[in-house]
Amino acid sequence: MPQAAAFDLILRNARLADAAAPVDIGVRQGRIACIGLPPGAHGPAVDAGGNAVLPGFVDTHVHLDKACLLGRCGHDHGSLADAIRAVSALKREFTTEDVYARGARVLDKAIAKGTTRMRSHVEVDPRAGLRSFAAIKALKQDYAWAIDVQICVFPQEGLTNDPGTEDLLLAALRDGADLLGGCPYTDSDPQAQITRLFEMARDFDVALDFHLDFDLDPSWRHLDEVCRQTRQHGYQGRVAIGHVTKLSALPPAEFDAAARLLAESGVALTVLPATDLYLTGREASHNVPRGLTAAHRLVQHGVCCSIATNNVLNPFTPFGDASLLRMANFYANVAQVGPGDFGACLDLVTHLPARLMQLGDYGITPGNPADFVVLDTARPSDALAELAEPLMVFKRGRQTVRRQPVQLLRP
Ligand SMILES: [Zn+2]
Repeated sequence: MPQAAAFDLILRNARLADAAAPVDIGVRQGRIACIGLPPGAHGPAVDAGGNAVLPGFVDTHVHLDKACLLGRCGHDHGSLADAIRAVSALKREFTTEDVYARGARVLDKAIAKGTTRMRSHVEVDPRAGLRSFAAIKALKQDYAWAIDVQICVFPQEGLTNDPGTEDLLLAALRDGADLLGGCPYTDSDPQAQITRLFEMARDFDVALDFHLDFDLDPSWRHLDEVCRQTRQHGYQGRVAIGHVTKLSALPPAEFDAAARLLAESGVALTVLPATDLYLTGREASHNVPRGLTAAHRLVQHGVCCSIATNNVLNPFTPFGDASLLRMANFYANVAQVGPGDFGACLDLVTHLPARLMQLGDYGITPGNPADFVVLDTARPSDALAELAEPLMVFKRGRQTVRRQPVQLLRP
């Protein structure tokens, strides 16, 4: 047999997004070698059965360190501030083992739902110390067989007003944190926080990812300052902002102007539907506003956007299965997206978040890592509409998940 036709894995009958007929994919040394096989191709084969095959899902914004806290605190929280306070009180007691166990529970769920790349935000401050960071670092290493995790350390409770936080963030950046996050709305001097974080990011040559403008008051915002400093520091393409629910409160002309500003500044935006819908608009007794920024409309203006999980089973979001397909479906439903744009919603959990995370090797293309999710349906757009379960997931050419199709036991 010719060596060029030997593969470590052949994924047969894979229906790719833009293909009319299923194709066979050859994998060698963890990477996609070819789409469509050469004559004499041989190697261990797995049959995708003509089902839809997507590159693994990409979750740009997950808090592994504060997931799965229900049962440890009261559930009468209503506002964002209440949720931050509740976790702040618990966080002093977090041990590395505890954070590891809760984070592992979320990673298990995410992997089983087809996520193969993730950015985890991690709180670093005098209450958590570096314990949560140490746990997420261990998870990153122990779960590398199934998922690549980026670690974004950030000051949830402020930077300039929280002595000791900056030194801890610097220590984490020296010790393997991949990038730096921010949360200006909890800082007594938001502008100074933004300025300092840009300085620190430049010193370490890392990207930035802010929690930003998480309310429905359009009379003020930090978005303009982040865009200004992004351009000033030449950081276009390396800055993301999350939530930005304020944009949902803007009339069309102002929304379009904000979209142009984001696109021109190269600032990406992540929508966190579960948390945004759970926490915003609490002041309304009826006709409650959705507080969900229209990511698919921003994309039409050239903004790089993603939909992400954010929180799982905690005071910020007492729900969660870490499924990005469910989150994209949820977004599409609330944002009143029709079937013609279901593909655009899938882009928000695949190719666009990969660009947000500056992953240069993402997608089903020869040369890229062989990360696949095989969904229990023929067409990707149907997968979004029907919440098709992943039947198989592959990471770097190795199968990581197997799910049996459901069987109805008819009489
Ligand atoms: Zn967050």
